[in-house]
Amino acid sequence: MFLEPHFKGQRSGWIEVICGSMFSGKTEELIRRLKRSKFANQKVEIFKPKLDTRYDDIKVVSHDSNAILSTPVASSKEILTLANGFDVIGIDEAQFFDMELPSVCEKLVLRGIRIIVAGLDMDYKGEPFGPMPNLLAIAEYITKVHAICPHCGNLAVHSYRLSAEEGTVLLGEKDRYEPRCRTCYQMGNILNFQMKKEEAPKN
Ligand code: ZN
Repeated sequence: MFLEPHFKGQRSGWIEVICGSMFSGKTEELIRRLKRSKFANQKVEIFKPKLDTRYDDIKVVSHDSNAILSTPVASSKEILTLANGFDVIGIDEAQFFDMELPSVCEKLVLRGIRIIVAGLDMDYKGEPFGPMPNLLAIAEYITKVHAICPHCGNLAVHSYRLSAEEGTVLLGEKDRYEPRCRTCYQMGNILNFQMKKEEAPKN
């Protein structure tokens, strides 16, 4: 479990990244850390991209309804002005932000702010997702959380897309994705590929 580092002397900021597949508990972990900061009487704020409208506009809601109020923003640069006066900044669904997010975080850290970023490290194709790889590179602390593969019970690192829709940004719940371990993810992709081949018109 992540415990806050204790710095003596001048307070400085740092970047934490919580990453993993869907249903791995990223938002729950983000909320846990932010609640601890609140107990320490620190001023806390959460930002999330405006396009994440799965639940509602002003809350970061984890899957267990453990909600904290948040501010939706259209671009990462907006956070620079909105973050004034806060000690700790949470950023949820970071994979959907623009590629400026890492440099925005670095600027905020220099103001002494602690940044906690949560996001999907890979999209459904298994590719690094948006600004996440860059954030992982510059973070002081990284926590990878895991879901459980419903097919075999091993640790899941992939978000497997159950629907056939195209496009990386596809918001959805359990009916559209499921967490899968590496093996079951590959098996699913091979089966899909074979099904597509069989469906394709033969000349
Ligand atoms: Zn599995």
